[in-house]
Amino acid sequence: MKNLASVSVIKDILSESGFKFSKSLGQNFLIDENVLKKIVDGAHIEPDNGVIEIGPGFGTLTQRLCMAAGKVVCIEIDKSAIPILENNLSGFNNLKIINADVLKTDLKKIISEEFADSTVKIAANLPYYITTPIIMSILEARLPVESLTVMIQKEVAERISAKPSTKEYGALSVAVNYYSEPEMITVVPPSAFIPQPKVSSAVVKLKLRENPPVDVTDEKGYFKIVKAAFAQRRKTLLNALSNSPAIPLEKDGVSRILQGCGIDGNRRGETLSLEEFADIANVVFPGK
Ligand code: SAM
Repeated sequence: MKNLASVSVIKDILSESGFKFSKSLGQNFLIDENVLKKIVDGAHIEPDNGVIEIGPGFGTLTQRLCMAAGKVVCIEIDKSAIPILENNLSGFNNLKIINADVLKTDLKKIISEEFADSTVKIAANLPYYITTPIIMSILEARLPVESLTVMIQKEVAERISAKPSTKEYGALSVAVNYYSEPEMITVVPPSAFIPQPKVSSAVVKLKLRENPPVDVTDEKGYFKIVKAAFAQRRKTLLNALSNSPAIPLEKDGVSRILQGCGIDGNRRGETLSLEEFADIANVVFPGK
């Protein structure tokens, strides 16, 4: 079997097949053996695991996943990559290739049909133009998946792992931490890809939580508070919440609630922990 983590092998495939990289599909293929190993090791894939891979491209990561896992299902949107993928990975009988847009794919159904009794993990070198929608749709769907180990832009990885009172901390940090425990695995330079992206990348592992780390009475209400607090980052919490059309309260009402929670209204939203957001949300949106 060809080792696909090689510039010359990828160039041969390009000239034999006439395949052209699509910038709009975020096609930056991995060619660095060490980075591939870090993704597979970081995902901690065991022989009885089921793995879903998003965006296999020519199958460079898929190859390693098939060697480590019991079964792999990969989902690739680009029709022209499918025959190349089938040819490159014809030696594996534990692989299913699906030609589809992952955002329009029922992953819950795939998991129940393909991985009935196994622990499922997701691994991917994600297309950067839809990194956040892919991650958030998987987390919000509460899929029965143990972890998500993904290559993403370094800047997004930093926002995901950010702590309160840092400039990277924002609504994305709160949302991802609500559903999962993020761990930064490694930073990856542009030279690990062909063609090279303009930005640095990072591999992060999101271990999905069984239960959120805070008690929230109305999840939608919780995220309304979080979004409102970060929508006007430079404003005080009191102003940001009372200016938000999503919060059904005048300034006086917001002020009383913040006082009741022991939170200074002059603080900025970016200083609040997940617990403090929950304290406010549970009063504003007490649920049914
Ligand atoms: N896994 C390969 C690798 O590491 O060499 C390719 C990774 S490349 C960054 C992203 C891949 O995702 C491309 O193959 C691209 O065609 C595919 N892709 C882009 N948008 C997609 C979508 N909505 N659904 C599924 N695959 C998608």
